[in-house]
This record gives sequence, C-alpha cells and structure tokens, in this order.
Amino acid sequence: MEVLLEEIIEQCAPYKALGKPASYIPELAKGDVNDLGMYIILSNGQTFKAGDYKKPFSIQSVVKPILLLLALMDHGMEEVRKKIGVEATGKPFDAINVTDQSLQNLHINPMVNMGAIAMCTMIKGENYDERFQRLLDLTRHLAGNPAIELDEAVYLSEKRTGNKNRALAYLLKSYGLIEDDVEDVLNCYFKACSIKVTCKDLARIAYVFASHGKMPITEARIFPAEYAHFVNAVLVTCGMYDGSGDFAVRVGVPAKSGVGGGIMAVVPTRMGIGIFSPGLDEKGNSLAGTKALEALSKRMYLSIF
Ligand code: GLU
Repeated sequence: MEVLLEEIIEQCAPYKALGKPASYIPELAKGDVNDLGMYIILSNGQTFKAGDYKKPFSIQSVVKPILLLLALMDHGMEEVRKKIGVEATGKPFDAINVTDQSLQNLHINPMVNMGAIAMCTMIKGENYDERFQRLLDLTRHLAGNPAIELDEAVYLSEKRTGNKNRALAYLLKSYGLIEDDVEDVLNCYFKACSIKVTCKDLARIAYVFASHGKMPITEARIFPAEYAHFVNAVLVTCGMYDGSGDFAVRVGVPAKSGVGGGIMAVVPTRMGIGIFSPGLDEKGNSLAGTKALEALSKRMYLSIF
C-alpha cells in the first residue's frame, strides 16, 4: 500500500506547480507548491503515508465539518437544521447569497463561509474564547492529537485582511441571523480556520466520520452515527466548493478542502484520508491533492457511487 502511495505522489508531481497557493490571505501565499503528502488510516487501524505528510498547514475550511459536528453535538439535528440549509450553493466559498433583497437561514450552507460563520454562534460557551477552545478541544480529540494548536501568524493575517468575511458576517447580523457581537464571532471563525494540522490529523478526523462516530482501534463512540450521516452527506454535495460535482465524478467520496491546501476525504466504513498540497485550482481546491485522490480512488475502487 505504501508503494502505491509513493507511486501516486510521484505520478502527481507534475501537477504540483500548476496550482497556486491562496494569496488573498498573505500568510498562505508563503505555501511551498512543491509539497504533496498523504496519510491514510484503514478501518483496521493500519496507517500508510507518503510524501510531505509531516508538514503542518492551516486547516482552513476543513474545520467546517468539525464546526457543523460541534453544533450538532451541542444542539441536535432539529435545531441545527432550523439555523442552516444543506443545499449545494453552486457558488464560490465567499459568495454573498442574497437574492431579491432577502437572506434566509436556509440559504446558508455550513460548508461555505457564511454558514460556517453562523455555525460559530451555535457553539456553546460563556464567551467566544471558550467557544473556540471547545472547537479546538474537539479537533484535538477527533485527531487524537492534544498538541494541535492555533497558527497565530495565519490567524492575525486573516483577521487583518478578512474584509469579505467581515462583510458576510455583518450581512448575517443585519438580517438577524446572528445576534452576537460580529467581531467576536469573526475572531472565532478566523481562529477556527487557523488551526494548524498535518495530513495525519486530517486522516484521523476523516476516519471518525468514516466509522460513523467511532475512534480508531478503541472504537470508542464520540458522537451518534446520524451526525456522521448528516456531515458526510453535506460533504458529498458541497465539501469541495463549486467543484463538488466534478469531484464526485472523479473521486466519489465525501471530502472537504481548505484554501491552506488540505483535503480531508472520508471513505465510509473503509478509511480516512488526509492530503496536503498548497497549489490550488481555480475553485480553491488543492490541484495535485485532488489528482492524487482521483488516482487513489481509481486504484482502490473508492467511489461510493
Ligand atoms: N479562512 C478562509 C476564508 O474564510 C477559509 C476559506 C476556505 O478554506 O475555503 O476565506
């Protein structure tokens, strides 16, 4: 298996430089396009890795399924469904989804920025520091890695330049879809995106979604299976931004990408996969990372369709 991964990394090497690191967050522009790594955990707990799998990167939008999970754990399915919609947007991740002068909560998808900002308000906690800490704790727990920390430089870079997200959050506020102080909510969102992870962390988190809420090896249940069904379904339809349809055809598994270059792919009942390569395609998905997943899916018949 490790030979297969090495082969895929080599075969996808020419695609690394075709992508571009995100530059709208200055700190992310420093990403090295030569990086490509992957890590896999099978349902029997076996792990396989290749390439630059040890390199840390910021989780970015891959945190969105975790935010959604925490909202589900804190409020249950019914309350979460009142707050956000689950329809694929067909729009880029920072789209302002306002039509006919109206913005309704069912327009807000938790896999795009507006929905994720709204999800931050659903985390329970006395204040936004506590809410972020609970999200970080859940991320560490799912990844089995208590050393996961915030990337302070990425956080400050996003906070300084994230004016479009600021606009989205104020729009939510103006339509009464969030009640709390906008800057507090945004700080929580920016910090959430700036959590520093590796391919291994993403593979472990993906594994828990793949096993419908159970940890590797110990099989300890972290959350009810129905939450995994919910999150995995949303990932299939909109986890890869407005490239989700193309990804479903080419790879065919629930997955979430982030503009840091990470992809978390969930192969229900079979495996969790973490991939990293910072060069992005025009939709904001890791270009070589998607190619590598496509090759892996073909070789191992991973598509769920
Ligand atoms: N922090 C990024 C933003 O809000 C996340 C985008 C992404 O990874 O899709 O712009």
